[in-house]
Amino acid sequence: MLETNLERIKHNLETLSSFNSTPGKGYTRLSFSSEHRKALDFLSKACESMGFEVMIDPVGNFRAKLKGSDPGAPPIMCGSHIDTVLYGGKLDGAAGVVAALEALTVIKEQNVPIRHSLEFIAFVEEEGASFGGGLIGSKALVGKYTVEDLKNLTNDEGLSFYEAAKNFGLNPDELEDYVLRKGDVKALLELHIEQGNVLYTKSIPLGIVEAIVGIKQLAVTLTGKANHAGTTPMNLRRDALVAASNIISFVEHCAKHEAFDTTVATVGKIWCFPNVTNVIPGKVTFTIDIRDIKTEGIQRVEQLIKEEVKRISDERGLQYSVNLVGESDPVKLSEKVVSVIQRVAEKLNVNFLRMNSGAGHDSALLTEVTDVGMIFVPSIEGISHAPEEDTEYEDLKTGCDVLLNALVDLAQ
Ligand SMILES: [Zn+2]
Repeated sequence: MLETNLERIKHNLETLSSFNSTPGKGYTRLSFSSEHRKALDFLSKACESMGFEVMIDPVGNFRAKLKGSDPGAPPIMCGSHIDTVLYGGKLDGAAGVVAALEALTVIKEQNVPIRHSLEFIAFVEEEGASFGGGLIGSKALVGKYTVEDLKNLTNDEGLSFYEAAKNFGLNPDELEDYVLRKGDVKALLELHIEQGNVLYTKSIPLGIVEAIVGIKQLAVTLTGKANHAGTTPMNLRRDALVAASNIISFVEHCAKHEAFDTTVATVGKIWCFPNVTNVIPGKVTFTIDIRDIKTEGIQRVEQLIKEEVKRISDERGLQYSVNLVGESDPVKLSEKVVSVIQRVAEKLNVNFLRMNSGAGHDSALLTEVTDVGMIFVPSIEGISHAPEEDTEYEDLKTGCDVLLNALVDLAQ
């Protein structure tokens, strides 16, 4: 079995994490920023020095190819995303980027015979930290976003993804020529930190992902009546925040007791108007994020929440609306690729857990065009999207070794 080089992995991770616009306050590498540029330059140099064919596609996905012996055989892709959230960690995305680069580097260095080409990919704008929504690079790559869509995705300054890509020197108008169709790629492998505490708690170094959750995000707005907090008797109030608090409690109850043990639901954001100490809240908007690997779990929770919003609003004389903010379906990863990863883990004597991903990933989009597999490495204390996000280097190397050998297996 082949082995990756931990010193090089460390060095590459440290270099990548040095392209950071918020040093001392976490890691921030936003799409089309100067840090993004430096990261791409670093990857280009590393790949060109190994003789890989480098290309940056019209939306900014970085791709580098190590050619296999059969030019007619579809390539196998491997990588993760290069962007971060604001004040995030150094491993989310970067771990998978460095792991893929390392795997291809070892295969090239050791002249491992491969029939299928291997293509390293660093996806652009997975987090949606700049242009909202997220997964933009992978959605564009599989044809889910058209050039028109890219013009409608804007950042806080009103600049569209399309314009930002152009300013970055890309030509998003050529997107259509780069869209992947079924059969273009044999498989895709992504290594990612788990971003949860399942592996860490169980002290298992490797997760083999079987399914990625579906997500439904709703925005609920309740409108009552703002009024004086001192002169309005309790029985004459139409308090939107108290109604919201009842609904929020119900959201937790519902995910816990009314659906499956894989169902989760979260209210993470709330706006209260006028948000003043001595005024009864007249209007409240909050978000609900529902996730499950089973569509029925999401549907059931959504249905019950909608009924409860209506019941509580009617009871309290409030007006309400429930709007869809975004949704993605649960996806199953390829059993074929999953079993290749499992076989490699067994050969390497690595303890593993077959599990689901509670976070969305570029990989989920790629299932539309190819066989996809994902490898998780443990997140210390389950922390992610925060400066403390970390993984034991030993565990990261284990994940990289499994990735490397699974790629070689698939490339035969
Ligand atoms: Zn990520």
